[in-house]
Amino acid sequence: MKKIASLLLVLCSSVLLLAQGGDYEAAAPPDLAQLESMMSRMAPTRYRVEVAQLSTGDRRALVKLIEAARAVDRIFLQQYWSGNLAEYEALQKDRSPLGQARLQYFWLNKGPWSVLDENKAFLPGVPPAKLPGSDYYPADMTKDEFNAWLQTLTPAEQEQATGFFTVVRREAQGKLTLVPYSEAYKPDLEQAAKLLKEAAALTTNASLKKFLDARAAAFLSNDYRPSDLAWMDLDAPVDVTIGPYETYSDEIFGYKAAFEAYINVRDDRETAKLARFSAHLQEIEDHLPEDPRYRNPRLGALSPIRVVDEVYGGGEGDQGIQTTAYNLPNDEAVVREKGSKRVMLKNVQEAKFKTVLLPIAHRLLAPAERKDVSFESFFTHTLMHELMHGLGPQQITVAGRATTPRLEIKDLYGTIEEAKADVTGLWALQFLIDKGQSGLEAQGKAMAERRLYTTYLASSFRSVRFGVQDAHGRGMALQFNWYLDHGGYVPRPDGTFAVDVPKMKEAVASLAHELLTLEATGDYAGARKLLDTMGIIRPELQKALDRLGGIPVDIQPVFTTAYNILPAAKAPGAPATVSEWRGRRPEAKRAVRKKK
Ligand code: ZN
Repeated sequence: MKKIASLLLVLCSSVLLLAQGGDYEAAAPPDLAQLESMMSRMAPTRYRVEVAQLSTGDRRALVKLIEAARAVDRIFLQQYWSGNLAEYEALQKDRSPLGQARLQYFWLNKGPWSVLDENKAFLPGVPPAKLPGSDYYPADMTKDEFNAWLQTLTPAEQEQATGFFTVVRREAQGKLTLVPYSEAYKPDLEQAAKLLKEAAALTTNASLKKFLDARAAAFLSNDYRPSDLAWMDLDAPVDVTIGPYETYSDEIFGYKAAFEAYINVRDDRETAKLARFSAHLQEIEDHLPEDPRYRNPRLGALSPIRVVDEVYGGGEGDQGIQTTAYNLPNDEAVVREKGSKRVMLKNVQEAKFKTVLLPIAHRLLAPAERKDVSFESFFTHTLMHELMHGLGPQQITVAGRATTPRLEIKDLYGTIEEAKADVTGLWALQFLIDKGQSGLEAQGKAMAERRLYTTYLASSFRSVRFGVQDAHGRGMALQFNWYLDHGGYVPRPDGTFAVDVPKMKEAVASLAHELLTLEATGDYAGARKLLDTMGIIRPELQKALDRLGGIPVDIQPVFTTAYNILPAAKAPGAPATVSEWRGRRPEAKRAVRKKK
């Protein structure tokens, strides 16, 4: 379960994006103009990461790790579709403008199907849509066939067949058989293992060395558990996630894990901020705007959170909508023993902030307010949001029964809990600003408050843009309406919005009280009533959203730092510079301009 912040984008992308580009018939693949329009939804953005502070050994290890991530790219292409490598090679030979556009869009999607358009094909001569089982199962295998076969296996084989790290193949006689990843992708895994071992020998950090050696062994043995445990203990300037992890691309059973890589550098400043906030969490809990009897006098240990900058993303980790945070591992046995760890990709969030949020602010905020939209405020609130999931009611009593908010609020819990983390996150930052402890007060408390709420206003539009079918989007619609009704958000006649800081503070406290009380009392009927009346897109919000057409949906990374330290890191089809992508077809742009 990861892709936390990007999930809302994935859910919604198909809803509003068809109008922006992908409106073509699968029978007739998009022409050059259509492909250009589809690609314009993903704005190329540079990832620059400071690496000078790393030890010499770590800098040399980083090069090996980026190379290993390129091996992961190859493995994921094979997992995604059996025809993928051949298709990718053929596209590289087509030097026509259409061929080059196809190659670029192929690389963005890691296959011939458009992620933003319900996985419809954009190339001729390929299956019309992504195969539900990717290449984890034979294309002609049915669910029933798999289940009947499963019954013939021993318990140990059954565990493998439904496990993360095997593929199912058909033997010559037609019978199904299991192949471990270590066999199915042997040459690429051997190469990746070799590179990880070389990186392990170079790094100056013991926890990284331990993880890399363990993961290299897992690539060859197919036993991933010891390396998952070592990953939980990883605490190093070079922060790496590499291997088979998420099961989204197995749309038949959700059993099989796709290979991905995130080669990151730890952000020590944000990590220090997290530590500082952690020291205040009990105090925040003790003052939450709720009946004091609901407060938890002793908070338990929180799962570790790492803040990093992504240098290179590989495999599924660089496909379609970019991930901004992930929570791993998925192996429940490891989670029971060690818990899970959340990794937040700060530079990816910054790229989305610049490319998507600032243009939104430009359209919906008055010029005087726009200067208060700040990434520092945005990211600090994101950190606080994550921490606040661990505060507030966790174990509750309803009519004498010990239970949890999740069990009582059922299908509405996700929306209520996301809104709670958002609203109490604002409340907690205000609490720290009042004490001069938020880290945002460099230019005074008044400025810190104005930036916090104005930035939040701009980011509200970004979240509701994806619709109320998603927990984050619906929770944000609820907040938007609440703040508007309580005078915290102020609509102007020209269609822009502003914040009234004193009223906003009151509105945040009253909504925090409302949400915390719903959770503390496990009040399903109350949650239903609140969401039915307030978790909706009302006309004033819809009018604002209608003004956001043409703003990119997401970013496509240009791994500038990775290309600087290892030019071979640039895959064919990946943009090497921002301008290469934007001005890729100047003659086409001129033609359009002439027509107008
Ligand atoms: Zn959340």
